[in-house]
Amino acid sequence: MKAFPFPDKDGAGEELERDLLYRKIPVGELERILDMAWNRGVSAAKMISEKYPRKSMEEISKWEGLRIKRIPSDQVSGRIRYFSEYYSGRREIILYLASIEKWAEHNRLSDKEAVEMILSHEIYHHLECTKLGLTSDLYQIPIIRIGKLKIGKSGIRALSEIGAHGFSRTIYEIKENKTVM
Ligand SMILES: [Zn+2]
Repeated sequence: MKAFPFPDKDGAGEELERDLLYRKIPVGELERILDMAWNRGVSAAKMISEKYPRKSMEEISKWEGLRIKRIPSDQVSGRIRYFSEYYSGRREIILYLASIEKWAEHNRLSDKEAVEMILSHEIYHHLECTKLGLTSDLYQIPIIRIGKLKIGKSGIRALSEIGAHGFSRTIYEIKENKTVM
């Protein structure tokens, strides 16, 4: 079987370590908030699979009011290659087809499978914006602390990515099991 190209839960933990605010999270809280974000993705995946049994991510996007725009380019900026973007205001997912082709080839996926996986990631972000609330806000830390006074709050962006990874992986597992059954 092909390896699933997105992080599992351990890999998602590394995503948290890379967050700019990582060091401000008390060590004792790390596991709990990782679980919380991952599980939010898992339950959203179950909800979506029940709502749209056997539908592709492309079909689900449409049912959830999303437009998919395909751009032929290989989108590279600095040292980062972008595969897709989600714009909540426009309810739009942009797919960079040449970037996705490279990623598909690297992971030995068909272009169609790769698009489905990338769409599942972005659909999670759309669900966050429309139904679930931002996963990044599940845990907030004060921005400035002066003695006992705490001013401002910030969510942790990596938590949204962790939720998306939990979502994509669960969608993938549910689909795989279906083909076995
Ligand atoms: Zn994302």
